[in-house]
Amino acid sequence: MNNCKIEYLWLDGYNTPNIRSKTKYCNISPNSDGLITVESIPEWGFDGSSTEQAVGSNSDCILIPVSIFNNTVDSVIGTNSYIVLCEVFNVDGAPHKSNMRAKLRELDEKFGDQGFLFGIEQEYTIINPKNSRPLGWPDHKFEYPPPQGRYYCGVGGDVATMRELVHEHAMACNSAGIPLCGTNAEVMLSQWEYQIGTADILNICDYLWVARYMLEVLAETKDVSISLDPKLIGGDWNGSGAHINFSTEHMRTVGGEDYISNVISNLEESHEEHINNYGIGNENRLTGTHETQHISKFSYGNSDRGASIRIPVKTAKENKGYLEDRRPAANMDPYRAVSKLVETVGKSLLLVETT
Ligand code: ADP
Ligand code: MN
Ligand code: MN
Ligand code: MN
Repeated sequence: MNNCKIEYLWLDGYNTPNIRSKTKYCNISPNSDGLITVESIPEWGFDGSSTEQAVGSNSDCILIPVSIFNNTVDSVIGTNSYIVLCEVFNVDGAPHKSNMRAKLRELDEKFGDQGFLFGIEQEYTIINPKNSRPLGWPDHKFEYPPPQGRYYCGVGGDVATMRELVHEHAMACNSAGIPLCGTNAEVMLSQWEYQIGTADILNICDYLWVARYMLEVLAETKDVSISLDPKLIGGDWNGSGAHINFSTEHMRTVGGEDYISNVISNLEESHEEHINNYGIGNENRLTGTHETQHISKFSYGNSDRGASIRIPVKTAKENKGYLEDRRPAANMDPYRAVSKLVETVGKSLLLVETT
């Protein structure tokens, strides 16, 4: 009898990565504290030719476990069920070129001592797979629900859908140790948001990927699917983003106009590189309307939801705290987006310290 069920998760090789998972049933011995840790989970492999990560004639890719969670979305009670997030490696032992977490680990080594904290607001849309439209929308693609207005933080069966799914997801995350700290219905019917954080460089990204996985799995049980398309519906309907709130210890405790404006001007200088790592199709969302700045412009402002970077009111008042990067799209890979932020923001502190 195998005593554990382990769901191995990894990211495939698509431009917008998808989560893949396969299940191993095996015997794992707890450590001396009675815990099952990631170190005790065996490496595994998969057919990379089916995930755009290898060619058929040389198809093996390696899964190296990096973090472990109780599988709180497993509907079968009584199993020792775990979710194990993995990095993908080549058989020669080098990180696979799709493995963006490996690069983030390097940046964590370099800048981790700056005490980064991140909080990510993940927006998404619940889809009815029968007509491929947001849940509750008319079947026909030229018909629309009543215009935006009452949906944001809306209450009532005419303006809010699947609240139970949203709640089950939040509970599943928190009971697995993923700090999901809030949810709200968004501006478009069947669009929602959850917030993860705060957490450090590597954890925030691992948490977001596992939270995304959990939402998809729960959605499967309710015959709906989840879209992270940054602009699902054209016209006067909000797109979906993934705002990244960030701070360093220096920003939270010392702050100061010099440091904060230095961070912002470094962000401005590297605007294009950031955009290149903030998700595919983001140009359809960052139009300068619907609470966004245009993709080709960089701006910042106190409490400004039409800016690239919003300075929250408390941060502006106290000259310390955190900043919000509103540019990332809902479908961004957090390993890539957070890498850019750590690089750009990390550099800024080195400058302050040497002047
Ligand atoms: P809004 O919708 O007004 O932009 P939310 O309440 O949805 O804001 O999200 C705020 C996010 O900011 C949360 O994810 C939270 O974890 C994060 N956050 C709060 N304090 C900090 C901090 N000091 N550093 C980084 N992120 C933070
Ligand atoms: Mn929010
Ligand atoms: Mn939002
Ligand atoms: Mn926000």
